[in-house]
Amino acid sequence: NAVVHWFKTDLRLKDNRSLKVAYETAKQNDIPLICLYILSPQDLTAHLRSPARVDFVLRNLEGLKKGLAELDIPLYMETQEVRRNVPGRVVELCEQWGASNLFANIEYEVDELRREAKLVKLCCDKGISFEAVHDTCVVTPGALESQQGRQYAVYTPWYRSWMTYLHGHPKNLDVVDAPGQNAGKARTHFKDLFDSEIPDAPENKRLGEEEKQRFSKLYPAGEDEAMSRLDSFLETKATDYGKMRSMVSGQHTSILSPYFAAGVLSARVAVAKAKDANGGYLDGKNAGLASWISEVAWRDFYRHVLVHWPFICMNKCFKPEYTNVEWEYDTDLFNLWTQGKTGFPIVDAAMRQIKHDAWIHNRNRMIVSSFLSKDLMLDWRRGERYFMEQLIDGDFASNHGGWGFGSSTGVDPQPYFRVFNPLLQSEKFDPDGEFIRQWVPELREIKDRKAIHDPYGRGAGAVAQKAGYPKPIVNHAESRDRALKRYKEGIARD
Ligand code: FAD
Repeated sequence: NAVVHWFKTDLRLKDNRSLKVAYETAKQNDIPLICLYILSPQDLTAHLRSPARVDFVLRNLEGLKKGLAELDIPLYMETQEVRRNVPGRVVELCEQWGASNLFANIEYEVDELRREAKLVKLCCDKGISFEAVHDTCVVTPGALESQQGRQYAVYTPWYRSWMTYLHGHPKNLDVVDAPGQNAGKARTHFKDLFDSEIPDAPENKRLGEEEKQRFSKLYPAGEDEAMSRLDSFLETKATDYGKMRSMVSGQHTSILSPYFAAGVLSARVAVAKAKDANGGYLDGKNAGLASWISEVAWRDFYRHVLVHWPFICMNKCFKPEYTNVEWEYDTDLFNLWTQGKTGFPIVDAAMRQIKHDAWIHNRNRMIVSSFLSKDLMLDWRRGERYFMEQLIDGDFASNHGGWGFGSSTGVDPQPYFRVFNPLLQSEKFDPDGEFIRQWVPELREIKDRKAIHDPYGRGAGAVAQKAGYPKPIVNHAESRDRALKRYKEGIARD
């Protein structure tokens, strides 16, 4: 007999709710706990997982396997090419191990819910009890509703309600411990499972050697790393976060998103620690800490939206009135955007950083998403896909939400007539041009604070041209007019 916890996007021991119940169940019954991880290459492809993210997951599995083994809990890992077969394989393994209790944390995306529905049926057929646990959000989806009994589609009232809920349910932030020593004698009965090897990255998701080293250095794996990043951010940067969070040069944010996305760090732990750092306050008191907590809340918000309106998983706009906006599908323009060769320095710097770091700052995500969908009028879904294929923190709900904001087609978006001006954004959030100089070497010789943002329009065209930096591929004022016209016409066609 045994109990099984199935790891997915919850690669941690601390504050892992399903793992904790699985452990308690095993302990009460004095039977072994076995942990399971299944890698499905087909699933990784279907969900556009970036090679950087796959590598990050595999690196984290190593630490997880070691941490579990120290507790006498084996982590069995295997590859299942076809994702449709995964639920059947989970049940087969449970039967093989004689496990009658299976636990897993819930993933809210549609494909994942369908997979779990299939698993429920298979488990019922075989007499295995399957418990799916809410874990990823600070406040469980479904817990908040407006006075009319509806899910909020606007962040600010939703956030007020989120805050009120947490004030009323302080235990919600209680962090659950990592499992203790597994007294269930797994080493005697399931000795071989301790030798299970980390799966290989599938061919189409494999990094080169240099990239592997680069990402290991930028984002070291492990819960301890996530926790020390969190602690050091809270100690040194968080109090200025409110003032500095939009500045794109230097590091003013936590860069914890890769750890949240893979579940190496729990959002509850992050909010609970920020609350402690803020003298026990979730909102108010220190503006920086309160503002950071409200950003972590955006992650919950987009997950709640996904749960209530799952059709967003189907390549659809949240706002149906934007379905008929006419988009462009020019591959050359799209490639100039991905390569960082648009002639708009801030856009190019960000797009080059994403290729190198698999991560960019939130402000830059907003600037480049607005540029793609409004200045270039390219279908925002192409940009959304590209981000997933590149980002180490690629996360469906947050990415879809962010692209919906930038393209004005999403939940609580910026209104369509607010078109980011890349030049003004650049001057405001990279005032000295440091970020641009870091990522666009062609412009490094331009020392002038004004010219760096628009070399051809501000007297540094000769330097830019000599270094091979392109002229702007569109005229922003004209593109803006075209975007307003297209959005208006699209809505009228609705
Ligand atoms: P911090 O500023 O330190 O914030 C802490 C945490 O709060 C983040 O790690 C993240 O989990 C959460 N958070 C902060 N801002 C947001 C936000 N606007 N929406 C949702 N969660 C937020 N975030 C992802 O995790 N994955 C994505 O795939 C993703 N795609 C995006 C695409 C676009 C077009 C936009 C505009 C935003 C996207 N975001 C995404 C949100 C945000 O840009 C990143 O979470 C943030 O930049 C991560 O950096 P950080 O960890 O330093 O954030």
